Amino acid sequence: MRDPLERRDFIKAVGVGSVAAAIGAGAAFAAPEEARPAGLLPVQDGKYALPPLPYAAEALEPFLGRQTVTIHHDKHMQAYVAGLNSTLADLAAARTTGAFGNVRALSRDLAFNGSGAVLHAVYWNSMAPGGKPLAGPLAEAVTRDFGSAEAFLKQFAAATKAVEASGWGVVAFEPVAAKVLILTAERHEDLTIWGVTPLLACDVWEHAYYLDYQNRRPDYVDGFMKVANWDFAAQRYVQARG
Ligand code: MN
Repeated sequence: MRDPLERRDFIKAVGVGSVAAAIGAGAAFAAPEEARPAGLLPVQDGKYALPPLPYAAEALEPFLGRQTVTIHHDKHMQAYVAGLNSTLADLAAARTTGAFGNVRALSRDLAFNGSGAVLHAVYWNSMAPGGKPLAGPLAEAVTRDFGSAEAFLKQFAAATKAVEASGWGVVAFEPVAAKVLILTAERHEDLTIWGVTPLLACDVWEHAYYLDYQNRRPDYVDGFMKVANWDFAAQRYVQARG
């Protein structure tokens, strides 16, 4: 496994630290204040807060009009942030009572609203009046990984245009191999929040347990809880928190 310091230096060296930090903001609910990129997705009194636009609502005209930007930010993004907070409150209530009957629906709501909040926070900062050209360490990284900056930009535009129905085109940092990738999301709520770093994982595909437990997944999960390596998770937490 790559030394965490070495990886952090590499991220800094290829210049995608800001992208990784930006996307990681959604995962930073329990992180110390200083670990959060200022303003991207702020947390106030333990709750996610709607960040202000990084420019005036009309600053992107004529590409995007003031009304489009205002409604998108003040109404749509705000709804994701509010939904994220209310879902977290509902989950806290479930922990208090021990009644987890709605945990599947609440987990879906958490992913839907959390991904919406994180991706919108990245989206607003992904634009600037007049644009800023691809340059520096990120340009070097995509030239290495995509052949050329032009090829990278063409793939990003093509992939984003090809998203079926609603979704996103995303330039992402993949932290396991430390690579820049172009991804798309057709359902951003598919049960994860973009940018999170997995700390611990339990496979519940049937192949993971069927020979030993057949249809008794709860028994398998209870067994997993007894062998779980929380030292590993704690190390990854410290590493991801930075
Ligand atoms: Mn939107």
